[in-house]
Amino acid sequence: MATYRPDSHTLLKADSIVEYVQETTVYPREHECLREIRNITQKHPLSFMGSSPEQIQFFSLLLKMIGARNAVEVGVFTGYSLLATALALPDDGRVVAIDVSRDYYELGRPAIEKAGVAHKVDFRQGDGLAVLDQLLAEAGDGGGKLFDFAYADANKEQYHGYHERLLRLVRVGGVVAYDNTLWGGSVAMPRDTPGSSAYDRVVRDYMLGFNAMVAADDRVEACLLPAADGVTLCRRIK
Ligand code: CA
Repeated sequence: MATYRPDSHTLLKADSIVEYVQETTVYPREHECLREIRNITQKHPLSFMGSSPEQIQFFSLLLKMIGARNAVEVGVFTGYSLLATALALPDDGRVVAIDVSRDYYELGRPAIEKAGVAHKVDFRQGDGLAVLDQLLAEAGDGGGKLFDFAYADANKEQYHGYHERLLRLVRVGGVVAYDNTLWGGSVAMPRDTPGSSAYDRVVRDYMLGFNAMVAADDRVEACLLPAADGVTLCRRIK
């Protein structure tokens, strides 16, 4: 039977496997400013909120594969994924970065500036749903400038709300990614699995509904990637 490991950064059989992936394929060519933010994040008491480096490396590749110019991130924390996205976009690209807190972003901002990509970042402090509504209003009825890629990793219980808004903000053929959709694997475990907190159970139940909704949503071609803590990719098809 599967065990719930809330402190682990991987759903793989052992932490040593993800460490192998990171040490062989991620860290050797990780941008020095990304490494700087990763080190800052690892020392932070809320380090579990940081996205996995191998997952972010995958997003960088994906952004280049789809030729992304405009991206939006809901949930910034210290800015590791934000910097990776800014680095992957062309020089005239833009990433709108949304977070309720500016304090964590400020920890990573010097590294983003040092990397020479701060001009691509449009940081907006506020609740994810409210700022996405603001972006929809800015885009106007005519569609305005649509995004090629979106990454949602903020308030888990707002994922349904993010989805409805992001499907209007991301162009057809663009990709919306959601983090933590396997929630430590708990979605496939009994609700009262030892080690899970009351909050874990709430998010687990929410993710069950969210994952079922995405799987049945005919507006997207979806894939739940069993990497990191579960990453759902939705390619908008209509
Ligand atoms: Ca996350």
